[in-house]
Parts: sequence; structure tokens; C-alpha cells
Amino acid sequence: MDWERAWQQIVRRDATAEFFYGVTTTGVFCRPGCKSRAPLQRNVRIFRTTAEAQAAGFRACKRCKPLLKPTDAMAKVRAHIERNVERRVSLAELARVAGLSPFTVQRMFKQAMGVSPIAYQRALRADGLRKALKQGASVTEAIYEAGYWSASRAHEGAALGMTPARFAKGGRGERIGFTTARTPFGWMVVGATGRGLCWLALAGSGSEAEASLRDEFPEATLKRDGGLRAMVDAALASVREGTDLTREQSLGPALDLRGTVFQLRVWQALRAIPRGETRSYSELAREMGMPRSTRAVARACATNRVAVVVPCHRVVGAGGALTGYRWGVERKRELLAAERS
Ligand SMILES: [Zn+2]
Repeated sequence: MDWERAWQQIVRRDATAEFFYGVTTTGVFCRPGCKSRAPLQRNVRIFRTTAEAQAAGFRACKRCKPLLKPTDAMAKVRAHIERNVERRVSLAELARVAGLSPFTVQRMFKQAMGVSPIAYQRALRADGLRKALKQGASVTEAIYEAGYWSASRAHEGAALGMTPARFAKGGRGERIGFTTARTPFGWMVVGATGRGLCWLALAGSGSEAEASLRDEFPEATLKRDGGLRAMVDAALASVREGTDLTREQSLGPALDLRGTVFQLRVWQALRAIPRGETRSYSELAREMGMPRSTRAVARACATNRVAVVVPCHRVVGAGGALTGYRWGVERKRELLAAERS
């Protein structure tokens, strides 16, 4: 690690820095974004992980809580949003709930759920609106039941909530950059909007991989972008090292996932399956606290648009059989073998 650069990040209180520092005079270790008093350079030690800091005898700062697991903190944030669907919950409020900075909450939530906290609230309300309308509520009733504050907010929200449908309609109006690359698991194509990775597929050839993107988003403007090679590398790293969700530091690419709240939750649960392990659909449903939703969970897995990074290959049949895989059972076998080694 570049010591001088790390020190500059501490001085700037850079909340995006992915390491920890200990202060020898206090015996405490912090995240670089910590608001506590800046230490003297000569008293600082840098650690890549919290385990290293603890092994060196440092204890966690009570202010920036370096031991707080992103998944635990984000579960709290998500529950708070869901309890308060009838009103707008600000990032500042979520930051207080998590005991973290607004910036960190925004980044961690997006990392965990693939959407920002605001987009998640929008998806919740759009879901509620669809549900209420389906159950025969009048439009006005449905609007308020779904947690919109006014009819005009509902129109705005419904329009925004249409985003998953817009994806479904072939990505009309979207600009998607993409690149293809040969990998040990076949040809990989990654597609990304300005918000993050929205498509990752595996195929037998480069042209087949590219065609899969065009099939999924026939209405989008596609543009080759060699800069996205980093996303291919990040996806391959997740096979070698595990998904980011099981670790403290978030190293995976930004995601642009779009779906219903239920789909978002299933995809998040998939990303919490540790590398080298598998789950059956019913186990996954149980882990999500929805033991009766096995079939819906299976359907949501099948609609995954981001192979490997959202590791739907880690879900197998009840007896451990490989069952199906959107990108070929043989590739699923190879991915699992690579992850077990
Ligand atoms: Zn601290």
C-alpha cells in the first residue's frame, strides 16, 4: 500500500478509502473518514483489514465503528425505510440510524442492494401502488396506500417506478456501454449504464455474447467501451475471492440493478452466499424469512441480468443437482468448481 497516499486520505478524511488506521498513542483504530481529531503522522499505522488492526492490539473506535458489518448496518437501514414507506426518509436520517456518514450509507446501501436508498423507496412505493390497484382500490386510495404524499408525487413516482419496466421494454432511452472478453468461463460481455453494471452474460463466442446484450436491450443505444474491462476483471475476482457482500471492504463494481423490491431482495440474498458455498431455492427462501416463497425466489433468480457478480450459479437443486443456468449448466459447473478450489 502506498503510505504517502494513505496518509493524504486520512488527512482529507476520505470516506471512500478502503483501509484502516491505528493511532499508537490511543490504541484505537479508525476508518479514514472518521470525524475524530486528526492524528500525528508519526503515530499512525495502516492496516488493510480490521483483523490486522486487532491482531496488532488496537481496539475499534466508538465513533466510526470500523467493525460494523456493512450487511448488518444495511439491514437496519433497509428495515427503517420499509417501516416508513409512507414518508420520504432522508439520507441524513438513514445515516443517524446506521451511525455512519450519509456518504457511507449511500455507498454501502448501493453496494448491498444494487440501488440507492432513494431508488429503493421508489421501488417500494411503485410495488405498493401496483398491489393496491390489483386489489381493486381506487386510484386515489391506491396512491395514498402506496405511500405517495400526493397525486402529483404518485405520477412522478409511478413514472420513475417504471424504470424496471423500461429496462424490460428493451432499454429505450438508455445508453449502455459494453465490452466483451475471453475468460476461463467462456466469452463474457459486460454492459453498464452511467449508474453501474446492468448486464453480464457468458456465451460461446464474442459475437454471441454481444448478441445477448442486443437481445436484452434492443432499444438501447449501445457503444463499445474498452474502459469497462475493469468490470470483467472485477467479476472474475469475485469468483477467485468471493463476493464483496461477505467482506468488510467493498471492492465489487457499482451495480445498476432494476427490478421489483422482491427481485432486489433475492439478488441481494444471492450476493450474501459466500464463495464456495451453494444454497437450494428453499434454503434461500428460508434465509430471506420467506419459507413459502420458494417458487417466487426461483423465478427471481432466473431473471438475474448480472451473472457471476450476482451469483445465481450458487443456487442448486434440493439434492445438490446443478439444475438449470441461464448461461449454460456447463458454465455453472465450471464456476462452482473454480470457487471451491
Ligand atoms: Zn474513528
